[in-house]
This record gives sequence, structure tokens and C-alpha cells, in this order.
Amino acid sequence: MVNWSAIDTVLLDMDGTLLDLRYDNYFWLEYLPRRYAAHYGVSDEAATATLKTLSDSLHGSLNWYCLDYWSQAIGIDVAALKLEVQDQVRFRPGAVDFLRCLHAHGKRCLLVTNAHPKVLELKLIASTLGEWLHERHSTHSFGLAKENPGFWHKFQQHTGVDYGRSLFIDDSLNVLRRAAAEGLPHLIQVLQPDTTQAVRPASEFNGIVHFAEIMPT
Ligand SMILES: [Mg+2]
Repeated sequence: MVNWSAIDTVLLDMDGTLLDLRYDNYFWLEYLPRRYAAHYGVSDEAATATLKTLSDSLHGSLNWYCLDYWSQAIGIDVAALKLEVQDQVRFRPGAVDFLRCLHAHGKRCLLVTNAHPKVLELKLIASTLGEWLHERHSTHSFGLAKENPGFWHKFQQHTGVDYGRSLFIDDSLNVLRRAAAEGLPHLIQVLQPDTTQAVRPASEFNGIVHFAEIMPT
């Protein structure tokens, strides 16, 4: 699936790729609605519906990932709530072994995440992820999300990454399709971003469930 002799750099998504998306799903779909309901004295169902309406209206935009935007929109400090459950941050199975193996083979590891800088900071503190990264990039500093047109051109100009010798791994089909459209040739999709949910169906991209499937040898 990967010709490692042709790859120098690995571009890695964070949530749903290196880290288990369970944390984020739990936070946004269970913890935040519960706290919102308690804060405003509404039912859990009403809170869930309100948050879903806002989420749907933002989907695909950088604001969907922006904690400051969310905090202002719902009148609750979302970053502070995220900290309350940070002990639930976990690596996906095999992620640390994979990162260790990439280092052993001299590959550069660049994190490319849509996560807000505050969330990135939280996850670096709550896990050992930071030890394995040569560079970390939050798309918020580019003003575009990974799935937005032009992001990958802008990222290339800023970092000088040679896409021809880079492998990009992400769990989002929209992100991978945008990367393919902007000329990234080596793409892999993580098919089980949340380890408590079913494996997703295969797409037009090479897919993995476990990093063991693409471990450099
Ligand atoms: Mg992801």
C-alpha cells in the first residue's frame, strides 16, 4: 500500500487518525449537550437539537473547529469544558508504534490538524503526541480548513513540503478529496476513527483500520 522508499515525510491528521475520535464524539455529542442543558435549564433533547443546528450550519468551515466561535455562540466556555474531560484523550491502536517506527526509519512527521490551537495544546498535554512531531500545524493559522479550496497550495507555500515524496493520512473523506484535487498523490484513509464505532466502508482511497497495515519495514 505504501512504497516507503519513495516517502520522506508523513503528514498526519490528529483527531480520528493518531488520536481516537471517541473523545471528540463523547465531548460534542454527550458531554457538551448535558452541560448546555444544565446551564440553560432545558432538556437534554432540546440542548442536543440546538447544538446540532449550530453544528450543521458551520460544517466544513473553519468556525466549526473554532472553540472561540463556539464559546461566543452558545455563551459557554467550551475550552474549559474540554479540559474537564481531557483524561479521556487516547491514541488510536498502534499509533505510537507507528510514530516510533517512522522515527526509526528517518521519516519526518508533520501534524496537520483542523483542531483549534487550544484543542491542539490540550491534546499535546493530555498525550505524548508532541514527542513524535517534527512540526505541528493548526489550519487556523492559514485561515482555511483542510477541506477548503486552496488550503493545500497555501500549506505547500508555507512549509515547502514536497507532496511527491509525502504520505498524507486522514480519516475525513472530504479532506482527502480536497488534498487529491490539489495534487497530493499519496493518500490513506483511516476507516475507524472512533474505536467504539463500526469500520467505515471503503472509498476510492486506500484505507486502513490499524497502522500495522502500513508499518515501514
Ligand atoms: Mg480527523
